Amino acid sequence: MNGYGGRILRVNLTTGQITKEPTPPDVAEKFLGGRGFGIYFLYTEVPKGADPLGPENKLIVSSGPLSGTLTPGAGKMDFTTKSPLTGGYASASVGGHLTAELKYAGYDSIIIEGISPKPVYLYINDDEVELRDASDLWGKGSITVETELKKRLGEEFQIATIGPAGENLVKYACITHDFGRQAGRGGVGTVMGAKKLKAIAVHGTRDIPVADPQALLRLGTEAYKACKASGAFEAWVRYGTSGVTVWSNEVGAFPVRNFQAGALEDYSGLSGETMRERIVVTDKGCFGCPSPCGKYSHSKKYNIYVEGPEYETTALIGGDCALLDIEDVAYANWLCDELGIDSISAGNVIAFAIECFEKGILTREDTGGLELRWSDPQVVFALLEKIARREGIGNLLAEGVKYASQQLGENSWEFAIHVKGMEMSGYECHNAPAMLLSYMTCDVGAHHNRSWAITYDLQVGRDLVTPDKVERVIYLQHVRPLFDCLGACRLQWVELSIDLGLYPPILKAITGIDRSWEDLLKISERVWNLTRMYWVREIEGFGREWDYPPPRFYKEPVTYGPTKGKKMSWEDIQKLLDMYYEKRGWDKNGIPTREKLEELGLAEIIG
Ligand code: SF4
Repeated sequence: MNGYGGRILRVNLTTGQITKEPTPPDVAEKFLGGRGFGIYFLYTEVPKGADPLGPENKLIVSSGPLSGTLTPGAGKMDFTTKSPLTGGYASASVGGHLTAELKYAGYDSIIIEGISPKPVYLYINDDEVELRDASDLWGKGSITVETELKKRLGEEFQIATIGPAGENLVKYACITHDFGRQAGRGGVGTVMGAKKLKAIAVHGTRDIPVADPQALLRLGTEAYKACKASGAFEAWVRYGTSGVTVWSNEVGAFPVRNFQAGALEDYSGLSGETMRERIVVTDKGCFGCPSPCGKYSHSKKYNIYVEGPEYETTALIGGDCALLDIEDVAYANWLCDELGIDSISAGNVIAFAIECFEKGILTREDTGGLELRWSDPQVVFALLEKIARREGIGNLLAEGVKYASQQLGENSWEFAIHVKGMEMSGYECHNAPAMLLSYMTCDVGAHHNRSWAITYDLQVGRDLVTPDKVERVIYLQHVRPLFDCLGACRLQWVELSIDLGLYPPILKAITGIDRSWEDLLKISERVWNLTRMYWVREIEGFGREWDYPPPRFYKEPVTYGPTKGKKMSWEDIQKLLDMYYEKRGWDKNGIPTREKLEELGLAEIIG
């Protein structure tokens, strides 16, 4: 099958059985790969009501048809599972080199089942696949383990690991790869921890079959040249995502003090310029990337090397906890990487705890004597350690803000910043309806990467609640996640504005199958609707209420920044959802209709 490794690797950790199956061509045709494969296998193989941390849940690791080929940024890997954080669908992607290596070993997906009786790691060297004892690695940090496994197995192995947070079942534990890249969201690392799977190590030497190598060489080269010719290229490579920090403060989109404000009073210490000048050592990119956004940094203050901080970490650990020095954020970032915690959820959880302390909902008695306050890096470091090890207050905070607010009571649920149980990523949106709708309707919870619509709010008018904004969100929710089906990075399109029209001919050169953008968007819509049906199947009573934003966004106006005094109205939130459901062909409760499922060829799968 051109463009594919051609095999699915199935690993049962309970029995130790390992099998190789042909990649089903009909699934490749309908779902492409990556997160498309992820939701297909999750929906069809994991029984309804499975415990996310039990043996019935599966972790599905998938590449896509562009992965490992001559396509800019062809290094995205998807991890799909039932989320221990939300109880619904989780899919987290990671860059780096893992996905290419998996394809070179001849696999499109690894389906990991069961629970191992002891800590193991999965060793894949082309056809040689083994579960190896990882007892001596258990308890160690992610970066430490990656370094150790590379020493043992060789630099050519690509490694994905969990840290202590995953082992201790912190509900937002991540999977780390390539010394600081994360499959971050939804607790994919927690599921690995529950399965006692410490790491995956992959090396492959096979060719990927390609339909038309000459066409791929020509079209791929054209796409690389387009990236390099972009006017945005130089700034993007110089600053990466940290270039967003100043803009975000200037437009009031920076989350500050648990999303109470939209800008820091002084953000100069966190800016991309400051970061570049003070700590960046070199640029770092994923497989086949012409525009490396990764920044490898060294903090003299803490004597650590870390990839980042990325904008999201700066926003949630920096802005949301009001840390003002990039080196403090860099150290917290390093802690998150080594402990294996999603820095977005962690920043939210810590900001929530600080606000609870400020309001007297948490006391020194609860925190073991620790005074929780804004702008104190030691508080952030201490809480990260406590969360990862589930010590004291960390045990509660390890469950995420939704659960913590349910336990703490009072009015804390009103400032627990999440949707569907997933903490919000780094864009303040009291006055950005399209961005807020993106969070409300995102298929994993409050995550920005499916639809980064805040620029559209700014472009057309931030107060407007109009049908075009809803259409824009839906369009983005189809285009952006499509890259996670293809197994490639979207940022060359998002940041460098390369023509989307470059991709269908590249995909055709690789697979031999002619698809238009409309065909590809239909596949993405199919995936989106199947993820929605997964929530419907798994959560009793799932519907409209699950799409509501945190009350803070419609009850409390912004306290500081360019949007000071602004908030959403409850009526506008309802209006957004009405328009969104109608345009998607869903009913008023947000459930896809039978007609929509039939149109997308999903009726048979749903049953
Ligand atoms: Fe990786 Fe950044 Fe390049 Fe995308 S732009 S492939 S995330 S380095």
